[in-house]
Amino acid sequence: MALMTGDNYLASIEKLDHQVFIQGKKCLDVTDHPISRPPAMAIAETYFQAEQAETKSLFTAQSHLSGETINRFTHIQHSKEDLVKKILMLREMGRKTACCFQRCAGLDCLNTVYAMTYDMDQSFGTEYHGRFVDFLKHVQVNDLVTAACMTDTKGDRSLSPSKQKDKDQYLHMVEERQGGIVVRGAKLHITGAVNSHELIVVPTRALKEEDKDYAVAFAVPADTEGVTFIYGRQPSDTRRLEERRSDVGNLFYGGCEAMVVFDDVFVPQERIFMRGEYSMTGRLVELFAAHHRASYGGCKVGVGDVLIGAATAIAEAQGTRNASHVKDKLAEMIHLNETLHAGALASAGKGYATASGAYAVDPLLANVCKLNVTRFPFEISRLAQDIAGGLLVTMPSLDDQDNPVVGKYIHKYLVGKTDVDSDKRMRLLRLIENITLGTGAVSYLTESIHGAGSPQAQKIMIARLADLESAKSYAFKLCGI
Ligand code: SF4
Ligand code: FE
Repeated sequence: MALMTGDNYLASIEKLDHQVFIQGKKCLDVTDHPISRPPAMAIAETYFQAEQAETKSLFTAQSHLSGETINRFTHIQHSKEDLVKKILMLREMGRKTACCFQRCAGLDCLNTVYAMTYDMDQSFGTEYHGRFVDFLKHVQVNDLVTAACMTDTKGDRSLSPSKQKDKDQYLHMVEERQGGIVVRGAKLHITGAVNSHELIVVPTRALKEEDKDYAVAFAVPADTEGVTFIYGRQPSDTRRLEERRSDVGNLFYGGCEAMVVFDDVFVPQERIFMRGEYSMTGRLVELFAAHHRASYGGCKVGVGDVLIGAATAIAEAQGTRNASHVKDKLAEMIHLNETLHAGALASAGKGYATASGAYAVDPLLANVCKLNVTRFPFEISRLAQDIAGGLLVTMPSLDDQDNPVVGKYIHKYLVGKTDVDSDKRMRLLRLIENITLGTGAVSYLTESIHGAGSPQAQKIMIARLADLESAKSYAFKLCGI
């Protein structure tokens, strides 16, 4: 089996016996809980798209290991075309779901660890790459979702991992046992963690020799003993608990993050992909960051498409579509959105082959793309809210339309242009609200700042990667120095 259907995927997560807690209660089935079902549906869409005639070619790829058709979310990119197709696929998914569909962090992590295990074997004579390839085969053959578990809790940010008062503030190896190791720590903001079959754990920062025990990378199934997921809250998530869910804005999908605790988890030898090679951690983090920063120029652009569409439709519904300032704002939104996409595509176009044969994006352009992502979705959101008007945050519930006393007032006074009914206008406003203020804003806005590294991390990389000496020499030549 190389391709699961969306329904098979949901059934596989339903069966998973992992420890998930939502709002203080244990959740037995994340695909059936009103708060966590939309995120599971968003991932299911990555399977569904791979089944559709029109999107199949974008959402599937040929495995370089087996030659079989696999879902592109499990594919190791082996050309610039592969890198470009990933970005295009993510934009398409953003358009279809208007949220974080969670599967790409795992994909970017697969590509990173594939390249890094190869490099480690070359440098240290280890046997990580073969182990990782076995794991990858398991992921591809069974079409699994992998969560990238990278960000540690970090405790006191001014101290390195081994200098922390509580040594567990970064995940580390606590014991060596027959046939494997035991690890302890917690990873934060893990996208799609509760909807994943496998967790890939990697270090969050460059480490020194004193932090050797923190230089661990491995994969464990989500239902491994000692692993606990604590689900992240999102603004207005409890609207999903309301009987008719009228005001959720995005009726079908959502993103999710979770805190993932590893409380003395045993990792068998064959699932360990780094153990003490601290000198490789900096490169690993940079490679993952580049892959994932470019990904944001796909997914966020797709969400931007939805927001631009909703802003256009609400302007039409309210009779402002032809106002010159509205046309100007829409053009500005498109300009910003396409600029994000351009950066990601350029990073793929200037991609390169790593020693393993897997391709990686140009790191400077990927960081430039992501730094733009930390800013432009906010401006696009501001413009969407400007076009939408204040009713975006003051209107009654959609349910009020059905009330025998007040319904008639809503239908009479919340219409837009004469042929637009209140329901259409209110639904569009709720969607804009979702993306710019509600559950969708978690991924479209705040994740755009901090996901795949906060803005300062991109500035540091941009400064490091830019060739200022060459730039100076061009200047010297032209002014006769
Ligand atoms: Fe994928 Fe974007 Fe979510 Fe990252 S933020 S997992 S790239 S959808
Ligand atoms: Fe992310």
